[in-house]
Amino acid sequence: MHSPDLPQIMRSVIHLLLVEDSEDDEALVLAALRRSGLEIEHRRVWNRAMLAAALEEKRWDAVISDHNMPQFDGIEALGMVKASDPDMPFILVSGAIGEETAVSTMRSGAQDFVMKHSLGRLGPVLVLEIGEAEIRRSAQIATQHLHVNEALLTSIVNTAADGIAVVDAGGSIEFANEALARMLGYAPQEMGGVDISQLLHQNAATASFWQDLFAAGPGSAGKPADLYTHARSRDGSVMPVEIRASRMVARGESKATVLVRDVSERARSEERMWRLAHFDELSGLPNRLLFRQLLEQALRDAGRSKKPVAVLFIDLDRFKRINDTLGHDAGDDVLREVTERLRSCLRDSDIISRFGGDEFVALLRDIDDADASRAAAKRILTEVAEPYSLQGEDYHLSASIGISTFPGDSADAAALLRNAELAMYRAKDQGKNNFQFHSPQMNARSFEHVVLERLLRRAVELDEFLLHYQPQVEVMSGRVVGAEALLRWNHPGMGMMQPGKFIPLAEETGLIVPIGRIVLMHACTQAKAWQDAGARGFRISVNLSPRQFVLTELVADVRNILEDTGLPPDSLELEITESMVMDNPEHAAAILQELRDLGLKLAIDDFGTGYSSLGYLKRFPVNTLKVDRSFIKDLPDDQDDAAITHAVIAMGRSLRLSVVAEGVETIEQAEFLRLHGCDLMQGFLLGRPMPATDMARYLEERGSFGRQVLTCTGSGILR
Ligand code: C2E
Ligand code: MG
Ligand code: MG
Repeated sequence: MHSPDLPQIMRSVIHLLLVEDSEDDEALVLAALRRSGLEIEHRRVWNRAMLAAALEEKRWDAVISDHNMPQFDGIEALGMVKASDPDMPFILVSGAIGEETAVSTMRSGAQDFVMKHSLGRLGPVLVLEIGEAEIRRSAQIATQHLHVNEALLTSIVNTAADGIAVVDAGGSIEFANEALARMLGYAPQEMGGVDISQLLHQNAATASFWQDLFAAGPGSAGKPADLYTHARSRDGSVMPVEIRASRMVARGESKATVLVRDVSERARSEERMWRLAHFDELSGLPNRLLFRQLLEQALRDAGRSKKPVAVLFIDLDRFKRINDTLGHDAGDDVLREVTERLRSCLRDSDIISRFGGDEFVALLRDIDDADASRAAAKRILTEVAEPYSLQGEDYHLSASIGISTFPGDSADAAALLRNAELAMYRAKDQGKNNFQFHSPQMNARSFEHVVLERLLRRAVELDEFLLHYQPQVEVMSGRVVGAEALLRWNHPGMGMMQPGKFIPLAEETGLIVPIGRIVLMHACTQAKAWQDAGARGFRISVNLSPRQFVLTELVADVRNILEDTGLPPDSLELEITESMVMDNPEHAAAILQELRDLGLKLAIDDFGTGYSSLGYLKRFPVNTLKVDRSFIKDLPDDQDDAAITHAVIAMGRSLRLSVVAEGVETIEQAEFLRLHGCDLMQGFLLGRPMPATDMARYLEERGSFGRQVLTCTGSGILR
């Protein structure tokens, strides 16, 4: 049978091993094969040894074997052939073979058998079997390759430094490599079935990442998607990770291969890079670049909060001298010291930056008004001016500061910086060691402050202060029991000034301390004079400033003044405010007790506007509560004020404190106070604060002096 469409391999020579004892049969077989168009190269063997040798020698394309041979038989030959190569086609040729033999031969692995009387089949059978054997062999090779590939893959996956996982469409982990398990603190086998999103930072971005990945159509399978997020390891630590996932379809199911890379190290080095780019190495302060960003942010915030922002451009004066004479190391030390001092002058919420060299820039946020930047600039000038100890010697520095403000000067970061710098140069021109505002109005106000401060100092020397007295009256009887001494500044040019105008500055500059001493001295002198004139038991109230209150010599000062003036201690009442005692209650309680031990009285002024902590009130040895004017103002109509005033009076009574209502202006208010049992009152209704001479007349008219009439005269405060 001619076979024009034999497979390609069959076109070449077939190497055939013939197990056959008979030369005649050999010829028959070969003739039949040639008739089928096959080109055969063959060897004939007829016993075990020959077969073994032939099999050893080379790989044959097929074996055709006789069934019955004198020294050998086909079944045995089959066994040997299969042992040497299980895929080698083996075709049994037999003259007389029973059905059973044929079946058992086939079972033993023969590919086919051909009867000697139908040798025409032999060619096609041989071709078929060789072809199939070839297919079997290549399949085997492929399988072997597969095995090799799988081992290779497993090894690659497990030696990979990155975490690798296969997850199903529900996010459940089907496989995780060792690196992933190690990264997250698990054993690889523990990771199966774990929901991958449980291991990652859960937010909207992560959720939509997985959704999008699996929602994508089949066409997009394999296209990787990236995500930057954080993974949480078993011990709770969190690390930044980069995730690359691609969807695949395996056995009809959607899955994703997920690569997880721990980028902590990279994040750390990026952080280092960021620090290098945004901070000044010497001082550790933000540099110009970062400051600019923070300023822009602060301006955006300030736009919303409507709170002013100030930029202070600070340049050290003559810093170059230190560098030149002591060297750069000493210069660096000074800059670090300046950094610390600047920090100490500012609040934690302020930002201080070094722009390079001896230039620092501060950003003040959330300030209440321009006075805050003025105060900060003053503090900086004072601090910078403190001596620097270098190589055993003291050196002095100063600074020039330029200030620009938002919203006053500009709403733009660059303009604010430029304006502050320009103002700084102006400060240099003005002789250094000072500060200048960019805006002319601010400079004027600043100038006003400076002038006022100078005038205030002069006022202390020139004794330009005087006291006005406001009577305090018993609610029930209308009897005048005493007066509060209220400070006035009579400036030759500016006229009579109320304390609201100058006391804040006196506090800020500390001038209130000497002024307060003068007040106390004169108030006690005056009270003693009125007592001597007949006003028996006349009591004088004097306001104390917080600055005086923290003074260590306060108690001694008061004792001396009482001794010098001869005023009985219980005729003096010192007024303090709640905030003064609440700043440091322990310390306050101790001082208050020392003052009480002197025999004088203590009042809490403006009661109700501060902390009003009843617990503390009990602990402080005070005698009097002065209900703040704001509660009295709308009496008796305002329900809340009425309730508060009533409560304070009741509380005062139960604590055995005397209660004074301040700012009583109307009969109705006085009536309310009388109804509720308030002890004393003070206000325009009873008498405005008045000079000493008027007060003497007031006392005289109300018979407080008895028969003797005396009006104080004298210089300075007693005018
Ligand atoms: P203060 O101690 O609460 O003094 C009462 C203030 O209320 C006084 O203002 C007084 O003039 C005002 N006043 C009194 N009765 C009425 C009234 O019926 N209606 C209205 N509208 N006001 C009334 P002044 O004299 O301007 O003093 C203001 C504050 O300055 C004082 O408040 C006190 O805190 C402080 N001060 C005054 N003198 C001194 C002082 O010698 N040393 C210190 N450290 N502070 C002082
Ligand atoms: Mg007062
Ligand atoms: Mg008051």
